[in-house]
Amino acid sequence: MPAPDLMDKIVSLSKRRGFVYPSSEIYGGIGSCWDYGPLGAELKRNVKNAWWQAMVHRRDDVVGLDSSILQSPRVWEASGHVQNFTDPLVDCKDCKARLRADHVDKLPCGNKAYPGRAASKCRDAGNFTEARQFNLMFKTFMGPVEDSAAQAYLRPETAQGIFINFMNVLNSSRQKPPFGIAQIGKSFRNEITPGNFIFRTREFEQMEMEFFTAPEDWQRWYTYWRDQRFQWYVELGMDPAKLRMRDHASDELAHYASACADVEYEFPFGWSELEGIAARGDFDLAQHEKHSGKDLKFFDEAAKRHYLPYVIEPAAGVDRATLAFMVDAYREEVVDGETRVVMRFHPRLAPTKVAVFPLVKKEGMPERAHAIADGLRKHFTVFYDESGAVGRRYRRQDEVGTPFCVTVDGETATANTVTVRERDSMQQSRVHVDQLAALLLEKMA
Ligand code: ATP
Repeated sequence: MPAPDLMDKIVSLSKRRGFVYPSSEIYGGIGSCWDYGPLGAELKRNVKNAWWQAMVHRRDDVVGLDSSILQSPRVWEASGHVQNFTDPLVDCKDCKARLRADHVDKLPCGNKAYPGRAASKCRDAGNFTEARQFNLMFKTFMGPVEDSAAQAYLRPETAQGIFINFMNVLNSSRQKPPFGIAQIGKSFRNEITPGNFIFRTREFEQMEMEFFTAPEDWQRWYTYWRDQRFQWYVELGMDPAKLRMRDHASDELAHYASACADVEYEFPFGWSELEGIAARGDFDLAQHEKHSGKDLKFFDEAAKRHYLPYVIEPAAGVDRATLAFMVDAYREEVVDGETRVVMRFHPRLAPTKVAVFPLVKKEGMPERAHAIADGLRKHFTVFYDESGAVGRRYRRQDEVGTPFCVTVDGETATANTVTVRERDSMQQSRVHVDQLAALLLEKMA
């Protein structure tokens, strides 16, 4: 399948089946904002839950946090965002499009307002203004007065909320280095060139964790988290051939970072970052210590020393991961001369885990199917469907990635058995109703 085609198919399936809609559509839309529909909301929630499970619940050395989006503007002065969180902006003198200077060779110049201009011509002529730095933080005002004293920012990353709570967590959670603080939440960046569906937007969600270590231990933990984070995508079914780890060259590193690597996925539009793992030294805590005047050092009683912990930060995007899982899951397969579209989501990510059908709408089958669906709802997200031929109902579930379909038929009344049909193999087997939930739980583990 040609790559651009695949993106079009994902966007169209997303709209048609309720994964992602263009935002504010009835008002003509708003650039690069998207709304997650019923299935998209489930998928995205499952991505976040899988991350939280792996990073917090299944470990004893990482705890969670949910800090506020609005923070003291001094946080962003200390972190360097007010000064340095900028991208180089250029204007095309011919078509007037605004572009990120480091994206010029990747994006079509010539925006929709100038349809007559050939994008690449513009670009080849290189008729751009000098680059100037554009700050990506969204500004707003707190309270009823709109003056500079009331100015605040929408956070451009969740990480700083973690650093400013380092002491609170240290004092209240009985954790001590090496330990981590994890957070999932919305971030906002006034991107110059958003695009590629939900890959780059101005409002997005991040999953970030700051892992605090003794200064001499950072390399060991950097290697550890670099491996862990790559494996997370593989364990959730992503094709390892489409994943790679890209280590940053030393001239690519931020001045405070001693090492950084990106987990990249081969999207239809090319290899692109899903997540960055960075060794940040004690830069952030040192900055906050300096700007707040508060001591943020950890006292290591055993070694009788005070130190500012070094930090390893795995920072992932929820929306990017969701898009990558969708792209990776999409298949078109020819079955009996017909094409079936199937989303081969890992069962943990699938928005609906089980669909329950009565074979026909009579002979008590709908009632029995409803009762079975209600029983399964205690364990799974379940979808009940009784309309149309059963083959079509299977296809509809394949297209949204439901791993199992359960069909109630004539034998259910006499033998208390149902048919379980598996999405990927399309194989069917008969299962006793009393064993159904246990069997499905086992298959989905
Ligand atoms: P990029 O180079 O693509 O702009 P970044 O290196 O600035 O990304 P980070 O600041 O490291 O990104 O943010 C961590 C993660 O947050 C990214 O790996 C990505 O998954 C996600 N992310 C960052 N910006 C956006 C955005 N505009 N839209 C969606 N997700 C984003």
